Amino acid sequence: MGDFLADRERRRLGSLTVYSGPTHSGKTKKLDAEVERAQRQGRQVQRFTEPVAPARLLEDRHPATEMIAIDRAEGYDGRLVATVEEMASSRSRVDVVVAGWELDYRGQPQGPLPELLCTADVAVKLDDGVCASPGCRIPASRTQRFIRPDGADRFAPVCRRHHDRQGRTSAFQEGWFEEPAGSLEVIAGCMFSGKTQELIRRLDQERYAGAAIQAFKPALDDRYAIEAVASHRDLRFPAIAVPDVEALRAQLREDTRVVGIDEAQFLEPSIVPLAEELADRGLHVLVAGLELDFLGRPFGPMALLMAHADRLTKLQASCQFPGCGSRQATRTQRLHGGRPAGPDDPLVVIGGAATYQARCRHHHEIGAAAAGSDSSLHLQFA
Ligand SMILES: [Zn+2]
Ligand SMILES: [Zn+2]
Repeated sequence: MGDFLADRERRRLGSLTVYSGPTHSGKTKKLDAEVERAQRQGRQVQRFTEPVAPARLLEDRHPATEMIAIDRAEGYDGRLVATVEEMASSRSRVDVVVAGWELDYRGQPQGPLPELLCTADVAVKLDDGVCASPGCRIPASRTQRFIRPDGADRFAPVCRRHHDRQGRTSAFQEGWFEEPAGSLEVIAGCMFSGKTQELIRRLDQERYAGAAIQAFKPALDDRYAIEAVASHRDLRFPAIAVPDVEALRAQLREDTRVVGIDEAQFLEPSIVPLAEELADRGLHVLVAGLELDFLGRPFGPMALLMAHADRLTKLQASCQFPGCGSRQATRTQRLHGGRPAGPDDPLVVIGGAATYQARCRHHHEIGAAAAGSDSSLHLQFA
């Protein structure tokens, strides 16, 4: 504990920051700015500009290194996620900053970025660049490929509306302006980070603007029910509880312009193509969910939803570990009788014996596998 406080004073705890976004969105500039700031503070920085085998990041790390900056992370394989977790842990105490594409030019999730958006303490999707299509003022969230006969392809940032997955052979020509532009916004965060409050706040804004809204949340049993999206602070928004994604689709009304979805981590993977389809059709889709489960693993469809999002908001909570005080809690701690829950605990526990806390990455604990656990008391998702 003394070490921990001393290291916090010296700002050496270990963290993961991720910058993602389409081409020309300024990811590398953000990375450079972090490196410069660290160097001004006299911290030892190592920079990797080209992808290497993830194991080499550990092997080549100088013992005095306090920050590792990794550019073009889309070129790494999935092992980067565990490697970065190790470097940012309280054993290694390195601040890791990663920049890269989360979607390729076809709009498909690419490389380790979707998972890194989940495991990051700070995840920023750079969405303040404007679409390259003349006259369009919508923020760019996709990378457009222009195929040229000489083979020297060109890439430009575009909005969802002006993105052509196949690649374009010539400049933009279409007149799209009469159609509304849809978008997918994702609000991610651990428990007690205020996700649902933020979702309700944005839905309320749409309601004041007169939009036709439907809100949904996963049902905990098989019946349809009119319920409410409700936060821990008892803010409420009427919502339809649905058992699965097909039921959500079946409940959508023709005139709905805004779709809100809470607790999206419990939905099946087919929520991803549905959210994309609705946003491409011009609807405004707002999704909130837990991006990590109680073991710190990406939760359900959240990684892919975050990758596809036009706008990502990753919220943090205050760490509830006694004496920590970090406002960068991004992990959900499950406790049974005051003890950390173990890896054999069911993924979803409804009511009953478990309690939850928000924890920072250094105070997130995974308990031992317990023999004769009382899991029969819990309701579980199949
Ligand atoms: Zn555009
Ligand atoms: Zn903490």
